[in-house]
Amino acid sequence: MTILKTAVLDLKNYINGKWQTSSSNEVVPVINPATQEIIARAPRATMEETETAISVAKATFESGVWSDLTAQERASYLFKIADIIDERAEELTILETMDNGKLKAEAAFDIADAASCFRYYAGLVQHPDGETYQVPGPVQAMVVREPVGVAGLIVPWNFPLLMSVWKIAPALATGNTIVFKPAEVTPVTATKLFEIIEEAGIPKGVANMVMGRGTVVGQTIAESKDVDIVSFTGSTDVGRSIMRAAAGNLKKISLELGGKSPNIVFADADLETAVDYGLFGIFFGAGQVCSSGSRILVEESIHDEYVKRYVERAKKIKVGPGLASDSHMGAIVSEAQMNGILKYIEIGKQEGATLAAGGYRLVDDGLDKGFFIAPTVFTDVTADMRIVQEEIFGPVVVIQKFKNEEEAIKLANDTDYGLAGGVFSNDGARALRVIKKVRAGITWVNDYHPTYVEAPWGGYKQSGIGRSLGKYGLDEYQEIKQININLDVKPIGWFPN
Ligand code: NAD
Repeated sequence: MTILKTAVLDLKNYINGKWQTSSSNEVVPVINPATQEIIARAPRATMEETETAISVAKATFESGVWSDLTAQERASYLFKIADIIDERAEELTILETMDNGKLKAEAAFDIADAASCFRYYAGLVQHPDGETYQVPGPVQAMVVREPVGVAGLIVPWNFPLLMSVWKIAPALATGNTIVFKPAEVTPVTATKLFEIIEEAGIPKGVANMVMGRGTVVGQTIAESKDVDIVSFTGSTDVGRSIMRAAAGNLKKISLELGGKSPNIVFADADLETAVDYGLFGIFFGAGQVCSSGSRILVEESIHDEYVKRYVERAKKIKVGPGLASDSHMGAIVSEAQMNGILKYIEIGKQEGATLAAGGYRLVDDGLDKGFFIAPTVFTDVTADMRIVQEEIFGPVVVIQKFKNEEEAIKLANDTDYGLAGGVFSNDGARALRVIKKVRAGITWVNDYHPTYVEAPWGGYKQSGIGRSLGKYGLDEYQEIKQININLDVKPIGWFPN
């Protein structure tokens, strides 16, 4: 196994077209979670620097240098960005793997998706989007779409580049200027993306990046009266504080939050397929995926057989560095995240669930460096347990039993979250009936995880507000205005002369 060595990268903020260190002189080491080596150092920006980035974005928006371009002109920049991402795909893939800890194959998908997301919005924004209405009187009514203004974009660490692009591509396509904040533990590929944005020739001041603490940089963005929309992806708790902060100027909000998604398996499902997707649903990305199928609900009559096959296969998953070609599952992003997951495993044991596989940090097989957790399976759980209700955000799955369709739906919806869900059944009518009852925004039938830039992404209940991607992703970053044009220009005569 060869682990790539690169020089430690000195990262900088990107404000008004200039790469800048922070006056705080605080620098955070960025760790490769598979090796614990430092791969970069990131600045911790101050509140004042964040405010500067916001005022640059505001002035640039008002100048019209970006918002007044035609959709075709803006699209041409986005196409250029996509092309450069493709050219630099291998470098970006390796950096993403080293920064986040995921498998190289997983990172390669993210980078390819990032390029296609830019292309998709470059295309979509050029579609006709006006509306006209035939209204009473000599009036022509029409609707136009305009950029919201300054978009504050805050992202998590689990898909560092892809989550950034899901926001940056539609925000720029629609003519907004942006202030973007990556997660503190994974700022590397975001920095590369801003290099690419610069190389593509986007005018200075349009796209700004500020790195640092959520409670400083993120909070300043969420509170600022000069930010017109805050689009946040991250945990439900921080989402709540973003919502409170955004209330100051009643800015638009878009929240993509946590999940505890059900994956329902009926007795008539193809068992091998259901087991396979059950594993993929949670252990892909080491469970650090918001839409993970972290609760598997299995019909009573096949429960024991499902568990037997599932546990056998879970034990065969080879955990290791993302850059090693024989790894099946990568690292946990940080020591803090790993400790949080281990704590939940302890909670599960104390709650009386049966630990059927895993349940520990891997420190053997050459994994003495790095943050690795064995694929962990809990069975004999009850709906009130914390490991069943709370998002663990790691490779930990709970398998529950249900008696009939009604109970499956009840258990599936027995959560504060509503992000995703899956159903496995060979009875098409039943599968559709059940998935329609699952209170979640992203769902699958005989499938789990694949999603597409064309389709809306977002959650019900405490999993969020709004939808990213697809045409809905454009709506988030646009204001909608009605214009009524009088075709017979003379006084209305409502009041006496
Ligand atoms: P997090 O909420 O801790 O942090 C997300 C981002 O918010 C980071 O950039 C962080 O620095 C910033 N932040 C932290 N405190 C802040 C504050 N007070 N004000 C403003 N910004 C602040 O989440 P995380 O640990 O980075 O990511 C994991 C979470 O993200 C999980 O809950 C997961 O489900 C969720 N997630 C959701 C989606 C989705 O599409 N629904 C996608 C990916 C991840």
